[in-house]
Amino acid sequence: MKYVFFIFLALVFSLTFAIFLAAHPAHALSSIDVNNEHSVFHEQSGFVAVISISQTIDDYEIDALELQPGSLPRKKVSTQLGPPSSSEIPSRQAGPVLVISNAKGEVLFSEPLIFPAYQTIPPLPPGHPPDNSPSIIKPERIQTVVVAPYFEKATQVSIILGDIDTPVKSRSLAPLHQQYEKSTPRLFQNSNTFPSPTGFNILILSSGFSDSQMNQFTSRAREVKNLILSIQPFSSLKSNINVHIHQQKSDLGCAPGCHSIDRLLCCDTHLVMNAAIFSGYYHDEIIVIHNTNIYSGGGYREYGTDYIYNSAISYATTYNGPLTAKVALHEFGHSFGNLCDEYVYNTEGYIYSSCVNCISACIEWIAVSSYCNRGCDARRDYFRPENSIMLSLDYSFFNKPSIEAEYFPHGLRKRLMHFTETIPVPKVSFPGVLMLLLDE
Ligand SMILES: [Zn+2]
Repeated sequence: MKYVFFIFLALVFSLTFAIFLAAHPAHALSSIDVNNEHSVFHEQSGFVAVISISQTIDDYEIDALELQPGSLPRKKVSTQLGPPSSSEIPSRQAGPVLVISNAKGEVLFSEPLIFPAYQTIPPLPPGHPPDNSPSIIKPERIQTVVVAPYFEKATQVSIILGDIDTPVKSRSLAPLHQQYEKSTPRLFQNSNTFPSPTGFNILILSSGFSDSQMNQFTSRAREVKNLILSIQPFSSLKSNINVHIHQQKSDLGCAPGCHSIDRLLCCDTHLVMNAAIFSGYYHDEIIVIHNTNIYSGGGYREYGTDYIYNSAISYATTYNGPLTAKVALHEFGHSFGNLCDEYVYNTEGYIYSSCVNCISACIEWIAVSSYCNRGCDARRDYFRPENSIMLSLDYSFFNKPSIEAEYFPHGLRKRLMHFTETIPVPKVSFPGVLMLLLDE
């Protein structure tokens, strides 16, 4: 009887293993890397390189380069069942690419640089008289951050443009290698406490809260979390969304009054991304709550559908006050949804950039909404759907076209499903396991 039980156990084990192998064939990981133009993972050193690049009108700068213990958490792969399928993704124009190479000039890693397109300013608080602040600006200098695997043999980081091989900017990696390798312990990100690598991950970071004020941050962060998870499309996909609230005390360089706009709250993008990596949490989107009682916030909008390549770089900020959660939700509408503002302050001349909720004709959303109101986001001649939080903080929800739009640049649900409908990639607990899967 005992033996029968063992045979049964062995059978169950083999079957489970066979199913696992079928679901996660070793070559799948290699093909993911090829598809994403990411390089070989088994050469990872146990560090990641956090590289900040800024773009001005006619130049690029490698602003900062730091190593952090860790590994790249995951690669997302479309199942092709859920949107967006590759045929729907507009091809990106040849833009700047970050390249990490070794002494022989061989490319170890390359990734297209995704810059946020615009910075958004929160709406006036309800009841406040209009002022002359814009709703959106294009800063002269805009920053992005690439988190790359750090290779021991890497010597150079460069930015190349399109098809031209000649770097427009280069920086040596070698001194960093010597500085960190001996002194820093090799900690991989704590994969045991990681949530599932699938799903949509929002990271809420504290800024400027002391130890004794951290409870205030946590309760504000919970307000933000509860509001997002209570409304569509997030409420219906709640089981696939992780909201991580991370108390941290490093300076993120946040302050209101940015670009001389009182209610624009900016942070240092490099410091925000560094803190996000250091938190150990996955982050598809980031919301920073800064400890100031001045009504303020901010967000970034991307070019078209760049969320597919890097969603976290367009992050949102909010202040510490009664409207924390509403400002966060509105700015999240810009930073995650690439939504337009739906209000017009009669101070025309601001920037219009494609979105699903402010367009030239209502015909696009006729299947989901019969509302058609003239005037939105500095385009008096364009149309918006029904009232929503993108019109005013009096509302706490997005309108139907903002949620359901299938058209470019994609509504919130389609965007969310890009993250929630993915093939589960096996968790990387130990570098050895990853090597085993890749070195077939
Ligand atoms: Zn706005």
